[in-house]
Amino acid sequence: MKHNLSYVHPSANVAPSAYVGPHSVVGVYSVVRENAQIGENCRLGKEVLVDGNVRIDDNVQVEDGAHLNTGAIIESDVVIGSRVFLSSRAKKTSGELKGNRTIRICHGAYVGADSVVSAGVTVGRFAVVEPGSTVAYDVPDHALMLGTPARQVGYVCSCYTRLVEDAEGSFKCPKCGEHYQRVISADSGRYAELFSPRASFNAQR
Ligand SMILES: [Zn+2]
Repeated sequence: MKHNLSYVHPSANVAPSAYVGPHSVVGVYSVVRENAQIGENCRLGKEVLVDGNVRIDDNVQVEDGAHLNTGAIIESDVVIGSRVFLSSRAKKTSGELKGNRTIRICHGAYVGADSVVSAGVTVGRFAVVEPGSTVAYDVPDHALMLGTPARQVGYVCSCYTRLVEDAEGSFKCPKCGEHYQRVISADSGRYAELFSPRASFNAQR
């Protein structure tokens, strides 16, 4: 079903059980399969595949030829570049997806063109995956990832500018001036997470 304020190109194919929200656009030859949910104000380019049960929140841009496979969750304000492949099809047993193989691309993240994200991976908020990367493990918030397999090469601001470390564990955005502090995640200790002072202040209240 499509909201009457959405636009689906006549050559595109949207399953009757899928939903396309208001002010969203589904481009030429794109396919939206069963029970996929697309929020408001999204832009799907040409020949995009949105597989069954994929959830796309509001203000998401998916560029030409990207494949979002079964069950992927794309949070708001995400950009998925051209020909990105979000794999959720690995390890099928008797037709069911085995274990938790859901890909989650968190709010504000950017996945560059021709990148591959493996099944089960979470890409953190405002993380940037450089074009042509292969992401096999979870990506921290604000991380800048590059290569195959992708390695973290720095941090980016929520304005997508690379952060500069101005003191041990303290980072500043040269463009918008926002400050960030590095803290090690208490649950895993596997990687550093960044919080702006304002965000951590709010979280304590
Ligand atoms: Zn900034």
